[in-house]
Amino acid sequence: MAMEDLYHEIILDHYKSPRHRGPELEGAQVHVHHSNPLCGDELDLRLRVDEADAVDGIAYDGEGCSISMASASAMAEAVMGRDIADAEDLAEAFRLMMHGEGLKREDDMLDGVAFQGVAQFPVRVKCALLGWMALRDAIETYRGGAAGSRVTHDDV
Ligand code: ZN
Repeated sequence: MAMEDLYHEIILDHYKSPRHRGPELEGAQVHVHHSNPLCGDELDLRLRVDEADAVDGIAYDGEGCSISMASASAMAEAVMGRDIADAEDLAEAFRLMMHGEGLKREDDMLDGVAFQGVAQFPVRVKCALLGWMALRDAIETYRGGAAGSRVTHDDV
């Protein structure tokens, strides 16, 4: 199987069988909402961080194209259990990959690497980045000490 076909299969699999998708997350300290007006993607991300500053729970929900939803699913799977600083670093590695600025932490990204082909389609890059940028915002919001639910409306 060609690499592009394999990546396409992975993206389709996350779209059809989403991981960590749900409208609520028990004990979540942060809730952010991000949108990508270029495509009409809408994403809610909820995050629960434990005492050791690790991602203890994550849930995304939303409406959007297959790339945006599948990427959020792959992101959630890749950052679950990670230290939040590490998860931020992984988000940066994903952002660089999507901008064609190198491939770092390929193994840690798990299925996230499947989206590297999307970098060839500038219009879809923001779709793939939506979940990861929401994650970054959620971590920043958590660090800012915003307990409970806080919704930010930021474009990617
Ligand atoms: Zn999209």
